[in-house]
Amino acid sequence: MRFDTAVIVGGSISGLLTAAAIKDHCNKIEILDKDAIPQELSSTSRKYVPQAQHAHLILAGGETAMESLVPGLRKLALEEGAVLLDATRDWYSCFQEGMLPTYRSDISTLCISRALLETLLRKLILENSDNIVFKDSVRVQQIELGEGQHRVIYTSKGETISRAADLAVDARGRGSDAKKLVEEKGIHVKSEIVKPFIGYTSAWFNMPLNLPGNKRGLIVMARSPNNPTGAVLVPVEEGRYVLTCFGFNRNYPPETWHEILEFTRSVRDTVIYEAIKEAKPHTIKVFHKDVNYFHRFAKNRDWIDGFLVVGDAISSFNPIYGQGMATAAIASVRLNEILHTAQDTRTLQQVLTDTYKDPWIVSGNEDLRWSGTEVENRPFGLAAIHTMGDRIARAATIDKEVTTAYVKVLHMLERPTTFFHPKILLKIFSSQKVKQENSARV
Ligand SMILES: Cc1cc2nc3c(=O)[nH]c(=O)nc-3n(C[C@H](O)[C@H](O)[C@H](O)COP(=O)(O)OP(=O)(O)OC[C@H]3O[C@@H](n4cnc5c(N)ncnc54)[C@H](O)[C@@H]3O)c2cc1C
Repeated sequence: MRFDTAVIVGGSISGLLTAAAIKDHCNKIEILDKDAIPQELSSTSRKYVPQAQHAHLILAGGETAMESLVPGLRKLALEEGAVLLDATRDWYSCFQEGMLPTYRSDISTLCISRALLETLLRKLILENSDNIVFKDSVRVQQIELGEGQHRVIYTSKGETISRAADLAVDARGRGSDAKKLVEEKGIHVKSEIVKPFIGYTSAWFNMPLNLPGNKRGLIVMARSPNNPTGAVLVPVEEGRYVLTCFGFNRNYPPETWHEILEFTRSVRDTVIYEAIKEAKPHTIKVFHKDVNYFHRFAKNRDWIDGFLVVGDAISSFNPIYGQGMATAAIASVRLNEILHTAQDTRTLQQVLTDTYKDPWIVSGNEDLRWSGTEVENRPFGLAAIHTMGDRIARAATIDKEVTTAYVKVLHMLERPTTFFHPKILLKIFSSQKVKQENSARV
C-alpha cells in the first residue's frame, strides 16, 4: 500500500515506531505531539508521559522488534550507558512459585530509562529518514474522519491549522478517543475492561546499591492470594537505579521513603530491602492505575479507510507485566510486513489489533487471580488456566528447559502455545513430582 501524507498524532513509543514501520510506504509523514520534547538526548521524563518516572522494562521480544525497525538502537543505548542483562544469569527473579535458576540463557534485557529510550528512538528514526517531520508543542484538537481523506486539526503557537492526510494515525495513548470517533461513523467497537486497582511508587537512586552476588537487577513478584505486593530494582544509564514498588487489590504502596523501605521489607523476599536499606533516593513518584482496556478495532468487516489506531490507544494492560512497549513494537513490525501485501487499511488495523490479543489475555488472566479485580465477564475455565499457570511457573523453578521457555514467553519472544509442545508439557508435569518430593523433605 502507498500513502501520500500520513499524520501521526502522538510522538511517543508507538507513534515513533509506527513512523518507522510505514516510512517506505508514504511520501511524507508528520508526527505531532502536544508535549515540549527535548531536542537533545535526555533521561528526563516529560509532562504527558508520566509513566516514564517508573521502571520500564523492555521485554526481549520488544527490543528485538525495535531493533529490526530501528537498526542501531541497542548499540546507541549501550553507548549512552544502558545496561544489558542476561534474563536468567543477571536477574534475581523471585517469581510466583519461587526462584528462577541462575544460568546463562542469552536472552538479553536492555535496561534503560523510558525517557532515554524514547529520545534514542526519535533520534535514529529522524536521522535515517528524509520524509518524516516531528512537530512538538502541537496540540491536536480533533481528527476529522472523512471518506478516505481525513483532516487533523491542531493548534500551534496560537494558530489553528488543518492538515489533510490520506493516512491518519491515532497514537495518543490512554487519552485517545478513537473508539468514540469510530463509533460516530456507525462502526461498533467491542471493548473489554479489567480493573485490577494497582498502584506504583518509584524511587530513583544515583548511588551504588548493595545487590547480592553477581546479580544486577532484582524482581520480587506478588503471589496470590496472600502476597499482593512486590517490587523491582532496575539498573539504568548513568549508574542509576529505579526501584518500583507495586501492589494489587488496592494495596497501593506508600509515598514516603521511610514507609517505602518498610514496604520492601514486607514483600515476600527482603532482597530489595537489603540492597537499598543504606541508600537515599533523590526522587519519589506515585502512579495509580485502576482501569485496563482492550478496544477490538476492526474486529468486524467495517473499518475507516486511511485511519489506524496504535499502541495504548488500542489497549492498555497492567504495567506489572511490562508488555506495553513490546507489544507496540511487535505490532509495528507486523504492520511493516503486511504493508507490502495488504489491499486496505482494515487489514492493517486487524493485524495491529490482533497483536494485542495474547498480552491482553495473559495480563487479564493474571489480574483475575486477585479477588479485588473487577471484570464484566470472567473467562470460562479460569481456575484451570490458573492451575496450569502455577504448574508452568513451578516447573520453571526446577527445569532449565522449562525456565527458558517460560522466560521466552514472558519476554514475548514466543507465544504461550510453546508450553503445549509435548516435550515441554512432559517436563512441566514431571517436575511437579520433584517439587512435591522436595517440599515433603523440607
Ligand atoms: C506505571 C507504568 C509502568 C509501565 N511500565 C512498563 C514497562 O515496564 N514496560 C513496558 O513495555 N511498558 C510499560 N508501561 C506501558 C507503556 O508506558 C505504554 O505501553 C507506552 O507508553 C505506550 O506508548 P504510546 O505511544 O501508545 O502512548 P504514550 O506513551 O502514552 O504516548 C502518547 C503520546 O501522545 C501525545 N498526545 C496525546 N494527546 C495528544 C494530542 N491531543 N495532541 C498531540 N499529542 C498528543 C502525548 O503527549 C504522548 O507523547 C508502563 C505504564 C505505566 C503506566
